[in-house]
Amino acid sequence: STPSARQRVCVLGSTGSVGANTLEVMSRHRERYDVFALTAHSRVDELLAQCVQWKPRYAVITQPGLAQLLREGLKAAGLRTEVLEGSGALSLVAAHPEVDSVMAAIVGAAGLEPCIAAARAGKRLMLANKEALVVGGAFFMKAVKEGGATLLPIDSEHSAIFQCLPEDRSTWGRRIDHIVLTASGGPFRQRDHGTLHRVTPDEACAHPNWVMGRKISVDSATMMNKALEVIEARWLFDLTPEQIRVVIHPQSIIHSMVVCRDNSVLAQLGTPDMRVPIAYGLSFPERIESGASALDFTTLAALQFEPADMQRYPGLQLAWDTLRGAEGSTAVLNAANEVAVAAFLAGTIRFDQIHSVNAHTLDAITPSSDACRSIEGLLSLDASARRAAEQQVSRLRAP
Ligand code: NAD
Ligand code: MG
Repeated sequence: STPSARQRVCVLGSTGSVGANTLEVMSRHRERYDVFALTAHSRVDELLAQCVQWKPRYAVITQPGLAQLLREGLKAAGLRTEVLEGSGALSLVAAHPEVDSVMAAIVGAAGLEPCIAAARAGKRLMLANKEALVVGGAFFMKAVKEGGATLLPIDSEHSAIFQCLPEDRSTWGRRIDHIVLTASGGPFRQRDHGTLHRVTPDEACAHPNWVMGRKISVDSATMMNKALEVIEARWLFDLTPEQIRVVIHPQSIIHSMVVCRDNSVLAQLGTPDMRVPIAYGLSFPERIESGASALDFTTLAALQFEPADMQRYPGLQLAWDTLRGAEGSTAVLNAANEVAVAAFLAGTIRFDQIHSVNAHTLDAITPSSDACRSIEGLLSLDASARRAAEQQVSRLRAP
């Protein structure tokens, strides 16, 4: 499409942190973007308010039993937005012929099917939902290729790498020696290691640099977020596990780096604000105003770097272990981690037990060789890993 044509956008997970930021960026460019569909799991009031602002054709609510409430609200507001219910509707709106672009901002493997649907339908697919790519792996990338979709990273680190690379993907392999993903280290980087067993969900969610959903906030505290991002980078940039490194950079100013064959290092910098990678996904290959403030180099404090302490963040190593292990191990790791984080947030297990659930589930489940060949296979692998992880959670809870 020509750069000036209006983009019709489907925002999956519009009530979340990335979803709301996406609408905020689009609201600065009403002449460029129309909203075709919005989706939420349970927050009817927020979804309704977004519908009033954007007047989408469809609003999807996935948690059962809430559609009627949404329909009544829309009717009272005099809107003609059609309400669809259940997770199957996500794929319908993501692959709809009238949609140009899909923002994948659902959290977790729940976003896998609509991502695959959008990929197969050849959409501009803006991917924040890293878990979908961690679960889908090669199968996901095949759907992108076969569907002729344009996959654009929204995760700030991967957007940084993408921004450091030329548009012509065929040159990437020759150009890149390795990449360096930066990590803030989360809220517990300097906390006494011996006290990590008693941190609370609210402490874990108090990220020093970013305001995000609770799941990714806990993942940042364990650095499982970085582990998922290592796996995500493997697929987005077609790298070997050895070509992906991680460094702690507490200021979150450098969002990641590409080290070229000649050891020249390219970095992307900015204030920590998700509206920058979101705006780049929306406007690529152009640039639009994002609403983020510019870096002020005259007041910028020193930029620090340190290696990640594998004792403090034992989950990080699982990224390389699962990438080198049986295909499907990354999906098992993701499922276990989703269960473990939910159990931690619910107060069922301790913070330090998240890793033991993940490690135990990886030991318990060996993916079959054809689990990763179909969406059904991936979903059933995800389900069996969740069951194994739930069992481990119950064992840990037992006195
Ligand atoms: P969030 O919890 O704020 O929002 C999640 C959204 O997904 C909500 O709209 C919710 O309604 C929807 N959702 C949740 N469970 C669902 C289900 N089972 N079915 C359908 N919809 C469901 O999360 P977030 O922080 O916006 O993160 C979204 C994704 O983006 C995650 O994969 C996260 O890792 C990634 N990401 C987020 C940030 C950030 O700054 N928040 C940065 C980089 C990447
Ligand atoms: Mg990130």
